[in-house]
This record gives sequence, C-alpha cells and structure tokens, in this order.
Amino acid sequence: MQESAIVLLSGGLDSATCLAIARQRGYRCHALTFDYGQRSLAEIEAARSQALAQRVAGHRVLQVPLGEIGGSALTDHAIEVPSPGKEGIPATYVPARNTIFLSHALAWAEADGAAAIFIGVNALDYSGYPDCRPEYIEAFRRLMQVATKSGVEGRAITLEAPLIDRSKAEIIRAGSALGVDYANTLSCYQADSAGLACGQCESCELRRQGFAAAGIEDPTRYRRPAKS
Ligand code: ZN
Repeated sequence: MQESAIVLLSGGLDSATCLAIARQRGYRCHALTFDYGQRSLAEIEAARSQALAQRVAGHRVLQVPLGEIGGSALTDHAIEVPSPGKEGIPATYVPARNTIFLSHALAWAEADGAAAIFIGVNALDYSGYPDCRPEYIEAFRRLMQVATKSGVEGRAITLEAPLIDRSKAEIIRAGSALGVDYANTLSCYQADSAGLACGQCESCELRRQGFAAAGIEDPTRYRRPAKS
C-alpha cells in the first residue's frame, strides 16, 4: 500500500519543490497550510494553486492566529520588513513558527497513520532563522519519537527535510525538472493582495538570485522593477 505523507505547504518556492520531491518518492501527499496572520494572504492562494496542480490527496488550511502573539514583522504591521543584508536574525523571524507548524503536522500525521512529514526548510540561502537549521530538524525528530504514541510503540513517523543543504539554485533546478510551476508560488514577505512581489525584501532577493544562478527564467510577477 502506498504510504502517505503530510507536506507543509506555504505557497513559496521551497515548499512547492518539497511537495514535488515527496510525490516523486512515492508518497500519497496531504498538504498542510497555515493561515497564521501573515502579511500576504496571497501566499495561501499560491498554496491552494500548488496543491491543485500537484494533485494532492488532501489539503488543509488551518487557522493559527500568531498575529495575536506578535513579535514578527510578518504578523505585526507595526514592525517594518527589513531590507536584505542586515546582521543577525531578522525581524521577519516568527517566534517558534516551525515548531508550531510541525506540531500540527505531527498531530495530523499520527491521527491519519502517515509515515512521514516533509518540510522545505533550507539552511544555505535563507534568512538565518534558527528553526531552519539541521540541528533543529534533528532535535524535532527526537521529539517526535518521545512525544507520540506511534513513536513509543515503535512506529515512529519520519521527518524529511530534503532541501536542507541545497542552494536556492539547486532547489529551483530540482523543482523545474519535476515540473513545478514557479509562476504559481509566492516568496515575498510583503506581496500585495494580487500576489505581486515587492522585489525588495530578503526573500525576493534570495529567490531572484536563485533563478539567475540556476539559469532559469524568473517567472515572478513584481509590482515594481527589481533593484539592479
Ligand atoms: Zn518581497
């Protein structure tokens, strides 16, 4: 019988690629998206579009109102989205976001008997978020074993992070080879309601450089020209 996997799907480039990789590995995929109070709801539309295009077995959009907690430029409009290149962990870091998301994925995986959870975190071309690093993924794997009935009974769910050590260009090449339509992904931290990217934020910058390095045309729709 085909094993199933829960795939975290944000609507961005990385998670769309991660979903394509999970499918290629033979999993029956269920996508999980969070409406967490992020600046751009167009992200959720991009996630729906990817879920549809990649023919997932199911797609859940869960409401987790992290805006009520705040502490991030992505959920609190009073905090400005920083320009790229600043030192340290940027203001776009969302407190404990991947722990919150993975905990929901773990609950769904255990309830449904899924064999694996896929997350598209990446520790090379990224913004320095602590919960995107290999040591974080390794720690969460250990947590999954001790925190769940399935883990205690020896049927541990695996946590897969297939993009963790890949560059943005490698991710884009891998996804393109698997037929991912990147025009229907959204990476911008402050896209408008029509899904147009700002072309200025760190996420736009990493994405633009990734397409350039991959030698693949960037299909991103920008609302103003990218910086030269
Ligand atoms: Zn942007």
